[in-house]
Amino acid sequence: MTSKEFKLEAYLEELKPLVNIDCGTNTPAGVARIADMMTEKYENIGWQVTREDFGEQVGPGLLVTNKPEAEQFDIMLIGHMDTVFPEGTVAEWSLTHDDEKAYGPGCADMKSGLLNIFLAVSSLPEDVMDRLNIAVVMNPDEETGSTFSGEWLKAVAKKSKCVLVAEAARADGSLVKARKGMAHYVIEFNGKAAHAGNEPEKGVSAITELAHWISTLNPETNFETGTTLNFGTVKGGTGSNVVPDFASTDLDIRFWDNDAYAALEQKIADMVANPSLEGISINLIRKAYKPAFTPNEDSEKLMALIEETGKDIDLPITWQAVGGGSDANLTGSLGVPTVDGLGPIGGAMHSRNEFMVLGSIAKRLELLRNVIINIAEKA
Ligand SMILES: [Zn+2]
Repeated sequence: MTSKEFKLEAYLEELKPLVNIDCGTNTPAGVARIADMMTEKYENIGWQVTREDFGEQVGPGLLVTNKPEAEQFDIMLIGHMDTVFPEGTVAEWSLTHDDEKAYGPGCADMKSGLLNIFLAVSSLPEDVMDRLNIAVVMNPDEETGSTFSGEWLKAVAKKSKCVLVAEAARADGSLVKARKGMAHYVIEFNGKAAHAGNEPEKGVSAITELAHWISTLNPETNFETGTTLNFGTVKGGTGSNVVPDFASTDLDIRFWDNDAYAALEQKIADMVANPSLEGISINLIRKAYKPAFTPNEDSEKLMALIEETGKDIDLPITWQAVGGGSDANLTGSLGVPTVDGLGPIGGAMHSRNEFMVLGSIAKRLELLRNVIINIAEKA
């Protein structure tokens, strides 16, 4: 299929059932229905689908391949089936479009990416299909950090020569060559309550310890290297006359340098073990974590191949390094050449203004399909 044969109305018809389902990460039944639909599509073209169960808290994952016997994959394609939108969203807001854009929960992030992967691989020339071992992996929990599916994704990536992630292209059309790492902590401080007037000396203030953490860790932010810390919430205390026995905070850390994060992690562990106040206990919970992904030599070769492919179809390729994480962080940080942003152009993700640019679908589909063909040529 070239972009000239592309039929927008048919595409939107096919996209509609994938968007018009409440399938936030916390709605596993909805994610499972997406998995059912994708299973049917791939089984219809004769690919083998293996369903992965991650327990009741999240939906299933799908590992789809054209070569069930393969021990190594030439290409791993990744898309996630969940969205950030809670149950009830679709009743109020479903897929619509005007002349320029489609709107709807997850239309760009990343149902159109899932559909583009399917349309790209299902329209490959037969000889390309024969030559390549392809794995399409769809996970149910990317939006909450792939906590359940991360190890499974990484295991497939380790058997793959390269990874293409079909999250939406950036609003300016750029693909994504690097993503910052992130860690999200919840930190709880337990001290000892006391009357602030009668016997303050008997109290141990959880808020004072929390304040010590903020003042100790904030100077670790370095805008030049891109390691940044943000205490995003603080809670604690019951009134001015009570020494507070409890406080908590959310700490978000972003970084380009995985070693810089490791050093910070050690510093934080030391602060847990050695509170500044006697009588404080600290409970540290790492809620989410993604290592940084930055290009290595092999990813640069993959990027060059994508740029060449773009040239052939009159699509100039530009790259961005971005702050937000995706599953590309998991595979890229293993050293497996990884490129992201191979879906249609989208924007305002995670909001009710989320959109996907209609005029970008056909070209991006052609790009993805031709990248796969060109990888086959070099394989
Ligand atoms: Zn996404």
